Amino acid sequence: MSVEANFAEIKKNIEQACENCKRAKEEITVIAVTKYVSTERAQEALQAGIKHLGENRKEGLLEKYETIGEEAAWHFIGTLQSRKVKDIIGQVSMIHSLDRKSLAKEINKRAHSKIPCFIQVNVSEEESKHGLNTSEVESFVETLENYENIRIVGLMTMAPHTEDEEKLRGIFRQLRALRDRIRDKRYKHAPCEYLSMGMSNDYTIAIEEGATHIRLGSSLVGE
Ligand SMILES: *Cc1c(COP(=O)(O)O)cnc(C)c1O
Repeated sequence: MSVEANFAEIKKNIEQACENCKRAKEEITVIAVTKYVSTERAQEALQAGIKHLGENRKEGLLEKYETIGEEAAWHFIGTLQSRKVKDIIGQVSMIHSLDRKSLAKEINKRAHSKIPCFIQVNVSEEESKHGLNTSEVESFVETLENYENIRIVGLMTMAPHTEDEEKLRGIFRQLRALRDRIRDKRYKHAPCEYLSMGMSNDYTIAIEEGATHIRLGSSLVGE
C-alpha cells in the first residue's frame, strides 16, 4: 500500500476517534516513524503531506536527514546515549525520550537553542521499557529548572503490546493525569502541554485519552 492510501485510512480513524471524545483533529500531530523503511519511503510520507518524521537511532536519522534535511521536522523517539547527543542535536526538532539527568545535562550543553523535550515515562513498569517510573517524574521536572536549553513540552510513553483495551486506557489515563499535575504547576521551563502516546496498534485509544502526538510506523509507512 502507498503511504498516501495508508494515511487516508488513518486520517479517517483519527477523525472518528476525535469525534468520539469531542476533540478537534487539529490537536493531533502525526509522526511517521520511518525506522524500518528507506529514505525513498520517508519521502513518500512527505509527499502524502506528513511533515513530522520519527527515528529511534542516530544512524537512521542522519542517513535520511542527509537527503531530506529541513523539509521534515525530525523527532528523536528512541533511547538516546549521551555521547550521541552532539551528533543529532542540530537536526532534531523534538526529543521524546528524555529519561535521566545525565542526558539532560548533555542536551543542555550541546544545544544551540531551546530543545523541546518529552520526558519518557514507563507507566506500565515493564522491565524491558525505558523511562522514569511515574513516581519519579515530578521531582525530575523540578531538577531541570536551570537547564536553559531544555523545554519540557510533555510526557511520552510506550504502552505494552496488548489487545486489552481497558489496560491500555488505564496506562494512557495515568500519563495524562501526571501531565495535568505538572502542567498545572505552570513551571516556566516545563509547560508540559503535550502527550506523545499511541502507536499503530493503539493510537485511536490514545487519542480518546488525550494524545497530542501519535507515532505511527508499521500502519503508516510499513515495516
Ligand atoms: C517503532 C516505534 C514506534 C512505531 O511503532 P509501530 O507500532 O510500528 O507504529 C513508535 N514509538 C516508538 C518509540 C518506536 O520505537
